[in-house]
Amino acid sequence: MKIIRTADALREARAAMEGRVGFVPTMGALHEGHLSLIRRAREENDHLVVSIFVNPTQFLPGEDLESYPRKEEADRKICEVAGVDTLFMPEISEIYGDDEVSIKAPRYLGYILEGHRRPGHFDGVVRVVAKLFGLVRPDRTYFGKKDAQQLRILQKMVESLFMPVTIVPMETVREPDGLAMSSRNVYLSPEERQRALSISRSLKRATRMVMAGTLESAKIEAAMREVMKEIEVEYIAIVDRDFRPLEEVKLKETIILVAARVGSTRLIDNIWI
Ligand code: AMP
Repeated sequence: MKIIRTADALREARAAMEGRVGFVPTMGALHEGHLSLIRRAREENDHLVVSIFVNPTQFLPGEDLESYPRKEEADRKICEVAGVDTLFMPEISEIYGDDEVSIKAPRYLGYILEGHRRPGHFDGVVRVVAKLFGLVRPDRTYFGKKDAQQLRILQKMVESLFMPVTIVPMETVREPDGLAMSSRNVYLSPEERQRALSISRSLKRATRMVMAGTLESAKIEAAMREVMKEIEVEYIAIVDRDFRPLEEVKLKETIILVAARVGSTRLIDNIWI
């Protein structure tokens, strides 16, 4: 596995890559969720590039940029074992310069739900992913449905800018007890982790209600709130695949999303119905 830290070196390495190039962008502190993307990308491509970059532009002032878990040594080993060919770990100065051309998240998709709670977050996401796509020029790239709104926005970006890359959406990987895997789960105390389980339970409850024929969003939301009464729910949203609110769940067209705080940790999860 080649470790690359500069944009120039990556550009040079890319020019020498043959066949299909798969790309998995991450912020590191790798877990089984990341690994599912890496494994799938390994199977489907001749050359596999993974990036680890804690992107400062997608963090808001006061968020966890400084404390975000960094595990370079462990991540390197994980990538090596998983058969990654090229691991890109740049410094911030390799990615960002002064007075840049700007790219912004779409007005609607970028500023509802997560974008409303974290204004500017998705501008930072599209900015960094566009840059990484420019450097890696992947044929296929892999993103988790865990970050559903991010995934939809990046699909839009690729569409709007006619970027020649295929985005492969990947299922959310969970702990055996249902908690969606996240690098931020390490912030949870044992007691908080227990309470955090109500997020995935509320989504299971919603799924059971739909399966039993209850489709009204208001009823589903109320039931979910009841399951999550021990934690601080930021939002529950029942939307279509373009994130337009739905009064009733439509099978195969609905995403139910939750954002909640457990102690000082903010967690998101969702289910696609
Ligand atoms: P991050 O390092 O959090 O920026 O995540 C990098 C990629 O891994 C993104 O495409 C995420 O959606 C994806 N990802 C994070 N957690 C999970 C999970 N539990 N299951 C599947 N994919 C995930």
